[in-house]
Amino acid sequence: MKIHYLNCGTMYPRLAPWFSPYQERSCCICMLLEAGDRLALVDTGFGTADMRDLSRLGSRSNLLLNVRPDPELPAVRQIARMGLEPGRVTDIICTHLDRDHAGGLPDFPHARVHVLAAEREAALNPGDALERDRYRRCHFAHGPDWVAHDAVSEERWFGLECVRGLPGLPPEVLLVPLPGHTRGHCGVAVDTGEGWVLHCGDAYYVKEELRETGKAPVGVRAFRRVAHHHYGAAMESLERIRRIFREHGGEVRVIASHDQFEYRALFGKPLD
Ligand SMILES: [Zn+2]
Repeated sequence: MKIHYLNCGTMYPRLAPWFSPYQERSCCICMLLEAGDRLALVDTGFGTADMRDLSRLGSRSNLLLNVRPDPELPAVRQIARMGLEPGRVTDIICTHLDRDHAGGLPDFPHARVHVLAAEREAALNPGDALERDRYRRCHFAHGPDWVAHDAVSEERWFGLECVRGLPGLPPEVLLVPLPGHTRGHCGVAVDTGEGWVLHCGDAYYVKEELRETGKAPVGVRAFRRVAHHHYGAAMESLERIRRIFREHGGEVRVIASHDQFEYRALFGKPLD
């Protein structure tokens, strides 16, 4: 299985320079999985319609996230530029359905969309003001072909609960529940044949959170307090990732959506 890394959104969060310099430039790292003639996406970043009209993302988002309106960043555009046919994307796996991870769903209206069942429920029936703001109805208005997963497999993955055997996807792809940031947030683990990649979405933001002291910069911790659905669950999920990073770092590459230093490592240049 070949993984192409894509950045499908660049943000300059307005408050970050004061509270969390690590996040003053933020990417939206997505993965395009290529297995034979099949393509699958892990997260979509922002979509083409979002880039034309940022008001789709909500007023609070526009104010705080400060998304760069770049029509070339949506996954569908990047896939076409790679010489691949976007219509070959049969499956999309979302770590969660926040606007910066699911905005591109309307660009692939026929793809199956895999999420944890709790996440689909949160997005379609938001329970509080935070959920009503973070999930954008326009991203689901085309009626995605949902595949909602809620049964964890008996066989664990490096000791963690996981969902195996996703319909339509090769067995090398599995979901690793990492709730907290949102109700049904998950990681996506992919066996490349030369080691695993665990895409952690927003379960952590910068690698400092995973290292020995486990100390995130103070602004990252503050952000976690306001942006997370359930702080306690998020901290438990973070602890699971820390263990993978510590005990299996040689076998599993751990990445996060918005880590600009991961971007630099993946693309060989700083995020501009
Ligand atoms: Zn995010």
